Amino acid sequence: MINRTMMQYFEWYLPENALHWKRAAAQAAALSEAGINMVWLPPAYKGAAGAASVGYDVYDMYDLGEFDQKGSAATKYGTKEEYLAAVKALQENGIEVLCDVVLNHRMGADGAERVTVTEGLGTDRNRDITGKHQITAWTKFHFPGRAGVYSDFCWNASHFSGTDWDESAKRNGIFRFDGKNWNRETDTENGNYDYLMGADLDTDNREVIQETHGWGKWYQDTVHMDGFRMDAVKHISFDFCRDWIAAMREYNAGKKELFVVGEYWSKELGKLTHYLDVTGHSLSLFDVPLHFKFLQAATSDGNFDMARLYEGTLTGADPAHAVTFVDNHDTQPGQALCSFIPAWFKPIAYALILLRAAGTPCVFYGDYYGIPHDGVAPVQGLARMIKIRERFAFGAEHLFFDDGSLVGFTREGDAEHPDSGAAVLLTDSIGGRKRMYLGERLAGRRMTDALQNVSETVEIGADGWGEFAVKGGSVSVYVTGPAWEYLYTRL
Ligand code: CA
Repeated sequence: MINRTMMQYFEWYLPENALHWKRAAAQAAALSEAGINMVWLPPAYKGAAGAASVGYDVYDMYDLGEFDQKGSAATKYGTKEEYLAAVKALQENGIEVLCDVVLNHRMGADGAERVTVTEGLGTDRNRDITGKHQITAWTKFHFPGRAGVYSDFCWNASHFSGTDWDESAKRNGIFRFDGKNWNRETDTENGNYDYLMGADLDTDNREVIQETHGWGKWYQDTVHMDGFRMDAVKHISFDFCRDWIAAMREYNAGKKELFVVGEYWSKELGKLTHYLDVTGHSLSLFDVPLHFKFLQAATSDGNFDMARLYEGTLTGADPAHAVTFVDNHDTQPGQALCSFIPAWFKPIAYALILLRAAGTPCVFYGDYYGIPHDGVAPVQGLARMIKIRERFAFGAEHLFFDDGSLVGFTREGDAEHPDSGAAVLLTDSIGGRKRMYLGERLAGRRMTDALQNVSETVEIGADGWGEFAVKGGSVSVYVTGPAWEYLYTRL
């Protein structure tokens, strides 16, 4: 049995120097050695902003840094050859690769056309504020720089449900195309949240279904990825997404099942569990509620009720379908959904996602390497906790979330992993001590804080219990003596 540990291998402000794929290839062995066995790579196709695009302003999904479009052949991250080489290097080092798939919208059209629309209210898209009228919409995509290579499919207004820019009037609005409805099976924020940005794909259109499925198969044949990270799923027909994933798995039949995680950005657990229900639990979701619990705990001056940390989270409700994370490219400073977890709480949050048995953790590149753009330093002790997850965080789990501020959990360890077992104690408030049960397997063993926040050594009693200490506003991760030695000779 292995513990899966994912890394989101990018942050928003990576330098625009087309070197990221080369970096990923060069770092593949080091990442594997560090204990990472799955990476999520950023969108690899050409965005409207060309070499400056992070990848979510999708222009041409068949251009993986190969065609001279939007000012260059390479994307922000490099060329197609470098991308494929990076994926190969990662996989050769035992790391599974998730590709970022954006199926909601297109941007940077090659041409505009006159379209009849109805304008809706921004805050309630079910309410029309105009009658039918014409606008000029950027909806014609024919990719002259690619000239039909891989696919000759051209997009026009018939493939989209709406847009937010009228080129004639030079104004923004929520414009729904005549004869189209916003898809009802999407999030209910703003009345209906089918529309997010750009030219919104009409996922009921047969040609759109055919084209996106065809592209997904081409993408698999080209990249041989191990799975997908699905962008903005709350803005896309739930059925369409479920069917696309099923089609991709069917195409990949006979090989290991594709791992899929969706980004449903909502702190409401009920919306996440509803999504999992209607998509037949065919994918995992990022545990957005847990991220916001971390934020609340980190910004409540020690008054957050830590005993209720997992209440209303996906990790609490459906751990098998929860991908846990602390921060990402959207929550980092300067970004749209900025809700960056304060530095003091980061090691606590990482101990919670990396060392508990529940959920699949995703480590953020910006937390691991730091974010030079904003002077953010790497998270203290993160590398060590990833290693502890890889080698020592095994066996039965015991939870001690029985206090408003001082909480912890233990892992008994197992026979398969020598010297495994861990005791984690943390607090959002003042320090203290707590007795926790580790199991009789570790009776008589001495354990030490791998993060070195506390220096005392704890001896586990014959009954399997030990008394652990933690300093205020911190976390201590106790491991066995040989495990401590292993970590200290390597990290
Ligand atoms: Ca949509």
